[in-house]
Amino acid sequence: MKLVCPICGKTYDEPVQRCECGEPVEFEPFTGEPYIGKTVWERFWDFWPVEPELELSLGEGDTPLVRSKLGEEFGIRLYLKNETVNPTWSFKDRGTFLAMGYALKAGYRAVGTVSTGNMAASVSAYASRFGLEAKILVSESAGDEKLKAVSVYGGDVIRVRGDYGKLYFESLKLGERLGVYFINSDNPFRIEGYKGIAFEIAEELTPDYVLIPTSSGGLFRGIAKGFIELHESGLIEELPKLIAVQAEGCSPICRAFKGGKERIERFDNPKTIAKAIANPYPPSGNAVLKLLREFGWGCVSVSDGEILDAQRKLAREGLFVQPASATGVAALRKLDLPEGAKVVSILTGSGLRTLRNAPAGEVRECPLERLEDCLR
Ligand SMILES: *Cc1c(COP(=O)(O)O)cnc(C)c1O
Ligand SMILES: [Zn+2]
Repeated sequence: MKLVCPICGKTYDEPVQRCECGEPVEFEPFTGEPYIGKTVWERFWDFWPVEPELELSLGEGDTPLVRSKLGEEFGIRLYLKNETVNPTWSFKDRGTFLAMGYALKAGYRAVGTVSTGNMAASVSAYASRFGLEAKILVSESAGDEKLKAVSVYGGDVIRVRGDYGKLYFESLKLGERLGVYFINSDNPFRIEGYKGIAFEIAEELTPDYVLIPTSSGGLFRGIAKGFIELHESGLIEELPKLIAVQAEGCSPICRAFKGGKERIERFDNPKTIAKAIANPYPPSGNAVLKLLREFGWGCVSVSDGEILDAQRKLAREGLFVQPASATGVAALRKLDLPEGAKVVSILTGSGLRTLRNAPAGEVRECPLERLEDCLR
């Protein structure tokens, strides 16, 4: 097990989660070849840092890549990677599955996470599946309704009063002391699990652009690492251009990128309907910033109005995603994409999680006696 800090380059032989410099660590790049197999875990067997626990899989990954007509307006070929069909309705399951396998093999009895939404549900579900205890730390403001979809899996859900930003670091520290393996947003195994998104896309086509909703930066780093490893293995000829997409009301990475900064700064008073991408001080922000610079990639932010419009358009095409997951499609009108470009947008999570803001249509009333009129 060899981990390296993408910022300062320090390497570690033991399974640390963050570098002494404060930045996240990651596994050194894997290379290999693809095999024939039913699941992405089997087909890309050479690329995982730990042997996947296939018999405990809930069917995460191997999601559809759907051709969309929403690209026509922009003269591009648009494909949607539908991550809403994962076992707990977001891509988080890919990373949770791999990290949970490590926790099990390493002999942990309990795992944890810091989240209010998709990651909380994912860790809670997989902990039950793997026979591990789950400690789910949520913020004071997390609503009862949302937490039902987390506690239903049987995890220990704890609402923590205090600075939510500090909770990420505090949980890693306490977890180490108490023997609880915390699988937070940019845990190194989690990042590895996300590589599967890049692998599956590359099995079907070579995209020119990939649009990635970005909050903590874990997803972006995982997809980037996946494409880079495919490239280093000689399995793809060129790297696609990766675009981090943020909500205008909480866009610390885009702000630092456009301002030519080396480091991200905390985004004060974050405000957006895209709650799943509203981390004001992303723990992988500096690592994402470095990737954007190194490869000449980009960062785009979109307004809540643009997000809602994209969410409605996607639903009218049959794909109901949450606001955070519509940001990629919302970004299309802000990007000057070349005619005919192959573009993949990652639909990160399901709209059923966030029904309150859904751009729903109206419902008509009709007495049974008048049904014929109503149907005309
Ligand atoms: C977690 C999440 C994201 C952002 O992923 P990060 O790894 O935090 O950048 C985007 N969309 C949805 C629906 C998510 O749950
Ligand atoms: Zn470091």
